[in-house]
Amino acid sequence: MVVSRFAPSPTGYLHLGNARTAIFAYLFARHHRGKFILRIEDTDRERSTKEFEEMLLEDLKWLGLEWDEFYRQSERFDIYREYAQKLLDNGHAYPCFCTVEELEKEREEAEKKGIPYRYSGKCRLLSKEEVEAFKREGKPFTIRFKVPDGRVVVFEDLIKGAISIKVDDFGDFVIVRSDGSPTYNFVVVIDDALMGVTHVIRGEDHIPNTPKQILIYEALGFQVPKFAHLPVILGEDRSKLSKRHGAVSVRNYREEGYFPEALFNYLCLLGWSPPNTEREIFSKEELIELFRLEDVNSSPAVFSKEKLRWLNGVYIREVLSLDRLVEEFMPFLEREGLSAEKDYVRKVLEKTRDSFETLKEGVERLKVFFVEEVSYSQEAISLLENENSRRVLELFLHKLQERDNLSGQVVKELAKEIQKELNLKAKDVWHTLRASLTGELEGVGVDIICDVMPKEKVIKRIVRALGRF
Ligand code: GLU
Repeated sequence: MVVSRFAPSPTGYLHLGNARTAIFAYLFARHHRGKFILRIEDTDRERSTKEFEEMLLEDLKWLGLEWDEFYRQSERFDIYREYAQKLLDNGHAYPCFCTVEELEKEREEAEKKGIPYRYSGKCRLLSKEEVEAFKREGKPFTIRFKVPDGRVVVFEDLIKGAISIKVDDFGDFVIVRSDGSPTYNFVVVIDDALMGVTHVIRGEDHIPNTPKQILIYEALGFQVPKFAHLPVILGEDRSKLSKRHGAVSVRNYREEGYFPEALFNYLCLLGWSPPNTEREIFSKEELIELFRLEDVNSSPAVFSKEKLRWLNGVYIREVLSLDRLVEEFMPFLEREGLSAEKDYVRKVLEKTRDSFETLKEGVERLKVFFVEEVSYSQEAISLLENENSRRVLELFLHKLQERDNLSGQVVKELAKEIQKELNLKAKDVWHTLRASLTGELEGVGVDIICDVMPKEKVIKRIVRALGRF
């Protein structure tokens, strides 16, 4: 059975790049009817926090990723200790008593000679007796993995192709720190092996770690999994996507009013596309069906906020149900201190869902439907102060009295009559109506307002506009 995993460290918000890694690992597992594991890599006690972990889980769930098994590395220290002991026992690891100062000196000497630093391997040579004596003295020690001399580790990456790395340059690396905490390259192997992970799908920044991990698999007699390293995501200036490029966490986008379906869809397109199609809109089910690692691009993908925004707009206009749109719109409305009946919101969105691309933008644009009183822009004030505007509004109110109902159709008829009777241009009439109903000269259509807003509210706005000027 195929088993993949996502292994985030809870040291910050879920980054878009990590979210894409999670999505690819998830799709791969689901496509093969396999298992998807979530593993919290919180061995770095100083940088990991419970809050970040909670937010990670929340964001992953929000994105629609459900996992089959869950682990937390901080709860598995006994297991790591056991395997560190195995490596000591079978001679693939050894205790190192070098002090920080000694190591610093080695480093400085290498620097002076202009050669890259690697640990000298000094403690490899300690006899059993020396080790025992140091331990009796209570000298602190790390555990180092013995890197075999002269090895070149070769592996076939499912995305990058064959990769070979000379391990001589590594030097014997630490697998357990002097405080007893195990290091990433060590625990990741133990976990992936014991959890039965068949495919390690992660960012290409981990390629240099892979040979170290392969050596540990071999030393413990574990089967080496397949590796698939995903290319980095770049910003539009072609440098690695980071905070400098603006919002880069899933949470940012969630708060802006992006839909998880749209973000999921967009992240999939960052470095992947199914062959022989120009299509860009895919449901999660379709993505599960179509996703293959062979179709992941081996060169970096460029993140475009504009494209994501466009895609979110497509979801709002065409993909999501009106009910869902209403459901998600409500909290955004409330966040702005506005409220309305669901049915009313529904009526508004039914007519306006094609006019915004994020929920936040939607609330901003559609505020006029929900506020008690509009505030007028400078241009609107100037227009409404005009004598013609007063005449338009008075006549409009008068005509409205003769109509039982107001609608987009009715307002169109009335505007035409007013235009003729007052001998004005159509534009003048519409601008005046819009300014009094929305406080702006541009924006939501007057006909839509009249279709949706109760007649009394329309009258109230016109009366207020008249009273002010
Ligand atoms: N905790 C590592 C990270 O966040 C995971 C690396 C891996 O997937 O092996 O980068």
